[in-house]
Order: sequence, then C-alpha cells, then structure tokens
Amino acid sequence: MRAVVTGGAGFLGSHLCERLLADGWQIVCVDNLVTGTAANIAPFRHHKSFESIQHNVSEPLYLDGPVDAVLHFASPASPIDYADHPIATLKVGTLGTHNMLGLARAKGATFFLASTSEVYGDPTVHPQPETYWGNVNPVGPRAVYDEAKRASEAFTMAYHRTHGMKTRIVRIFNTYGPRIRIDDGRAVPNFLTQALQNQPLTVYGDGSQTRSLCYVDDLIEGIVRLLATDYAEPVNLGTDDEVTMIQLATRIKDLSGSSSEIVFKPLPEDDPRQRRPDLTRARKLLDWKPRTSLEAGLVKTIAYFRERLG
Ligand code: UDP
Repeated sequence: MRAVVTGGAGFLGSHLCERLLADGWQIVCVDNLVTGTAANIAPFRHHKSFESIQHNVSEPLYLDGPVDAVLHFASPASPIDYADHPIATLKVGTLGTHNMLGLARAKGATFFLASTSEVYGDPTVHPQPETYWGNVNPVGPRAVYDEAKRASEAFTMAYHRTHGMKTRIVRIFNTYGPRIRIDDGRAVPNFLTQALQNQPLTVYGDGSQTRSLCYVDDLIEGIVRLLATDYAEPVNLGTDDEVTMIQLATRIKDLSGSSSEIVFKPLPEDDPRQRRPDLTRARKLLDWKPRTSLEAGLVKTIAYFRERLG
C-alpha cells in the first residue's frame, strides 16, 4: 500500500508518515517547507519505504506508480502562520485540495482530508457536533483558513458524490505534542517556551476562553482508524477535556517548574470563546477515545521543548 501525505514534513503530517511507515505503508511525503521542516522527517528519512518531494500542492502534482491513499494535510495551521501566509493558505485549501482530489481520482485512491474545528468558527453550540454548521466570519483575519477548509470539505463531498470516490473528512481540534513548531504562536508552544525561559506567560484576553487539547498520538490513532472505515461524512477528533487558557498557562508553569508570572495581552480578533468536540460519532464509529491526560502529554512535550531550546 502506498500513500501520499501532503504537509508530511509538518507537525501532524510527520507523525502520520511515521505511523503509516510503522504500519507497513510506502510513503510519498510532499511538502513545500513553508511551515514544515526537514528536521521533522529526519528520524525516518532513510527508511526504505519513505520518499519525499519538495513541492507546493497548490500546483498540480503528477506521480508515477500506484497510489492507494492521498492524505491532504498541507496548510499553514496556526493563527499567526495563516496571517503571515493568507493567500497561500486560501490556495492550499482550495486549489491544493482540488489538485489532490484529482491525483486521488486518477489513481483510484482514497482521499483523506485534514479539516479543522475552525469550520465551526466561534461556535454558538457547545460542545460542537459534526451536524453544527458553524459561525464563521467570512471577512475576518481567520477567514483565509476557516473558509478554505470549509471549501475543502465541499470539494471533497462533491468528488465523493459526483465521482463516487472514497473520501474521508476529519475535523481536527487543537492538538499538541513533540514537533509542534516552537514559534508557531499557538498557546501550548508559546506558554512552554516562555515557561522554560522564565519569561512571562502571555495569556490573551482574560484567559477564560477555552480549548480542548489532544495529545498527538491519540489524534493519529483516530486518523488511522478513520482511514480504514468507509465513512465519508466529517468526523471530529480531539479530546473533550476542556480547559481555560488561564488553567493551561498555570498547568504548564507548574509542570515545568517555572518561576514565570502570567501577564495579559489583548485578545486577537475573532478568537473563539469556547471549543470542545462532541466525540460521540468518533467513539461509535472508530471505537476510539483519547487516552493521554493533559498532564502526561505536557510532560512529553516539555521534554521535547527542553531539548529544542537547549
Ligand atoms: N493564546 C494565549 N496566549 C498565547 C497564544 C494563544 O492566550 O500566547 C490563546 C488564544 O487567544 C486562544 C487560545 O490561546 O484563545 C488558543 O490559541 P491557539 O493559537 O493555540 O489556537 P486556536 O485554537 O485559536 O486556533
């Protein structure tokens, strides 16, 4: 079995490549290294079943040989990354998805889309089930990511319905772990870097906004299980253990033994107030649940950050 993983040198993409290699797949990793890094794939770069190509999937990609699955994970994914690359983010979600659906169709492969909880925007329904249509500002700063991902889901369903293609859509909620980029501006990497360098932890707004933070290995397990099903509708994956940003900052400060203080900075525009997946569908369909506690996941992530920060 041979899989193409776009964004394979990114945080989630590299974990996915590593897991699929371990499961016996041949992997073609495709990444333009805008937000991904060669260091992420270094641990398995020399594996006999691993091949990598530097390419922007917003441009068409033609590959020789059979392909059984195309897993489309390429996109800037943190708020500061998509603010830095707004047009590339729109393009990879729309044109990139179209190109990768075309590749999957030409090869008779299953297409697997990495979508996001951002399709729910700033949700007015809590927790968020897959049947909720969301509350997205189409012209705000997050729109380049949110709307591109919404379009990528529409593209995927259109190919499924029109061409009878095998497709999957996972809506990924906040995920963290080793290989998350230390400067991607998200809460976990910011707080960890700040705590380990004894600098103030920057909580945005009053810190009462919530997120539910899933450890990367649990997410990847859910993805592998979803790939093996025959289910085309979207499936939420993440954890339903919801914390406020104040609680997260405090937990990270305590676990890293830091003497940092917590300071408050302005809340970014359109920052969702609350986010927690309704995981009923994933639990039933995949016989899956997140297993790693926030504390256990943070301990592993702290070890990675200590190594990276020297
Ligand atoms: N956040 C924060 N301090 C930071 C970075 C982020 O308080 O240094 C907050 C941010 O405003 C948001 C939450 O943490 O409410 C999660 O932000 P993140 O960028 O991790 O991901 P998002 O879920 O917003 O895409």
